[in-house]
Amino acid sequence: MSVGGRRPTRAVLCAIWAALAVLAALIVALALSVRATPPSAPAGAPVASSDSTSGPRSSLAPSAGSSSRDELSSAADDLPLRGVTVCLDPGHGSIPDLDLTPKYPGATDVMQYVEPGGAQGALTGTPEYEVTLDVALRLRDLLEGLGADVVMTRTTDDVVLSSEQRAEVANECGADLFIRLHCDGDDDDPSRSGFSTLVPADTEWTHDIQARSLEVARVMHPMIVSELGCADGGIVERSDLAGFNFCDVPSVLFEMGFLSNPEEEARLCDESYRQALAQAIADATAACLTA
Ligand SMILES: [Zn+2]
Repeated sequence: MSVGGRRPTRAVLCAIWAALAVLAALIVALALSVRATPPSAPAGAPVASSDSTSGPRSSLAPSAGSSSRDELSSAADDLPLRGVTVCLDPGHGSIPDLDLTPKYPGATDVMQYVEPGGAQGALTGTPEYEVTLDVALRLRDLLEGLGADVVMTRTTDDVVLSSEQRAEVANECGADLFIRLHCDGDDDDPSRSGFSTLVPADTEWTHDIQARSLEVARVMHPMIVSELGCADGGIVERSDLAGFNFCDVPSVLFEMGFLSNPEEEARLCDESYRQALAQAIADATAACLTA
């Protein structure tokens, strides 16, 4: 019984060993299959994930891009002078200065007063420097509203600036356009009237800016005169103005009307006409610098 008992035990042991061997083989096979699966799964997953993520992104991207472009293009429409620098020079100031300063670079004998004082209203005595600053401040606001960077040579009346110093302000900011504002005066002929635009004549000091300044004037001047419905004083070339001769950027000077003419004086003292002047110049500037 004992032997008989041993025989079944051996058989059972053999069966167990066999079963263990099979189990070990299964475990090895399973381990191999598990090992084989992970590398393929992570390798595939990111690609699929990347594809599925980039799919929607790439399909959205053009939409988002075109939306941004639309916004930019819309902003460009609203701000036609974005990226443009305009230097505004309200002529004269409240402090006369009869020191002499050269009319052109290197001049020692062709001189002019630093601040000769401007014209005065025939009836009201309104000084030119007050009209030019008021129109310039209105013009600054309008140009900034169109997106321009505006640099002012002065924002108060009580400053002394030579024409050379005013031109230097325009040069230093690299203005796309230097706009100088003045009013005319002719004490001998109170009937003289009209809006005129002065530009540099072609001289050795202004040769680099003369053509562009004249081109700008030919666009702006007729637009302004037409919009204001005022008398046309024309475009005048000048070689004797230090503000042009020291200037390295395109420049125009607007004589906005005659303070010596009672009718034009009344208009130049009227706030709504000053605003109309600023608006006409701003419109012409936009037309000129965005063309
Ligand atoms: Zn003046």
